Amino acid sequence: MPTMGALHQGHLALIAASRANHPFTVCSVFVNPIQFNNAEDFAKYPRNLDRDIELLEKAGCDALFCPDEAEMQSGSQYMKFDFGHLDKVMEGKFRPGHFSGVAHVVSKLFHIVEPDTAYFGQKDWQQFVIIRTLVNELKFNVKLQVIETVREPNGLAMSSRNERLSEGQREQAAALSVSLKEARQQLLHGKSIDDVKKNVQDTFKQNEAIQLEYFEVVNAENLVAIKSVADADRVILCMAAHVGGVRLIDNMFV
Ligand code: AMP
Repeated sequence: MPTMGALHQGHLALIAASRANHPFTVCSVFVNPIQFNNAEDFAKYPRNLDRDIELLEKAGCDALFCPDEAEMQSGSQYMKFDFGHLDKVMEGKFRPGHFSGVAHVVSKLFHIVEPDTAYFGQKDWQQFVIIRTLVNELKFNVKLQVIETVREPNGLAMSSRNERLSEGQREQAAALSVSLKEARQQLLHGKSIDDVKKNVQDTFKQNEAIQLEYFEVVNAENLVAIKSVADADRVILCMAAHVGGVRLIDNMFV
């Protein structure tokens, strides 16, 4: 499975799922410069290869691929991926060029590693939808699996970027998953999407520790914003917010 390192239990859940289903598991660690649209985020991205190696050994991962930037360099300055609507909304809207960079690196990793199955986390649902499109459109010979988001006891979705949060900020950041759960309950009890969106926005306006970037209710398959939960078979709530200068994302199916 492709990762950017600074591994945590979320990544290890992907390794465990692969090991349970396949005789050989490969993990890649590469902090991909072309998927960062913010130089500071790239510079501050947590890196700890020695610890990653220790965790992968303990988890029984069979091979680690950690190329350097020269090895992964490509014509990305000429070639861009465009996924239409899928990479214009949510993460794509706030991180222009991000998904083109992701598609580049994942394509290269698939060609180099030639996995039968690749594992991705639900936490990056939009990324998964885009990679599924890439694989289907370009006929990559790989099956894709999604693994549920692994969370801290307080509900915070595990993320390498959490390493940049203080203890207190990690507690504050639990508000993301709390508000997703509340929004989910409200929708299940028949509240309108407009009202739920307003509630979420109002909740964060009152919370000085967190700056909400977006909260969207979309059809999970095509990421189109919907007006009513009846408009899609599978509905997903997606959000991004800044806590202490760190950008976090989370999502939840309704
Ligand atoms: P990253 O290293 O953040 O690029 O993530 C590598 C892979 O691990 C991606 O498929 C992520 O969706 C997945 N992942 C990251 N965090 C979690 C989590 N908390 N639970 C499950 N999967 C995760």
